[in-house]
Amino acid sequence: MAKKTILLIIVIVGLVLINKMSNNEDKKDIAGEVGVDPVSHASLILNWAGKAIYSDPVGGAELYQGKPAADLILLTDIHQDHFDPERLKALAKEEAVIVAPQAVMDELPEALAGKTSVMNNGGAKEYFGFKVEAIPMYNLPGGETLYHPKGRGNGYVLEKDGTRVYISGDSAGIPEMKNLKNIDIAFMAMNLPYTMGVEEAAEAVLAFAPKTVYPYHYRTPGGFSDVAKFKTLVNDKNPNIQVVLADWY
Ligand code: ZN
Repeated sequence: MAKKTILLIIVIVGLVLINKMSNNEDKKDIAGEVGVDPVSHASLILNWAGKAIYSDPVGGAELYQGKPAADLILLTDIHQDHFDPERLKALAKEEAVIVAPQAVMDELPEALAGKTSVMNNGGAKEYFGFKVEAIPMYNLPGGETLYHPKGRGNGYVLEKDGTRVYISGDSAGIPEMKNLKNIDIAFMAMNLPYTMGVEEAAEAVLAFAPKTVYPYHYRTPGGFSDVAKFKTLVNDKNPNIQVVLADWY
């Protein structure tokens, strides 16, 4: 009887270990497919299938030294932490395509407008084999000011070979975000009063349950959002979502 019990325990421990190892394998595969380069705040680079996809590149040249040349540049909104015409002039070489909403297009210098493809909320198009879809990003009524009115800026979903990456832009936890499906990697803005608080961001993430989530854009007027708390709020309810706290600042 005792021997049988011991044997049973060994089998259970073995199964738990095998399960853990295979979960880790899954995570490694996703991370290996899409290289995430957290440049700063809202600016990030995805090194994916031999292409460099930049989102909201802003800031000094030193931030971009040694980075691969941009193939695709996604712009979400008109504010200076997302839109930097000087940086874009330096990054947008011959082959590069910029994707931006009309409000950003309206403020682009002529040289950049010529390589820009306008995409507004709900739009979708393929570039270099990547499907790009513009998702609404906006504040919900109730706050004293709407920093981001609906329809002006874009969040984005990028898709290639079944892998899907979501970039929230400066948004509240809106229904269009909560209803996303099959997201492998999500970048979630969380800085009150401009975007979500960590509670609202956690609630939204739990609703669409990406495989991996990166808090980004979390500098606040008084410091930084508590991204460790965000991780706890998410993983207490769903331990299968991998929360990556990267070095953004
Ligand atoms: Zn912003």
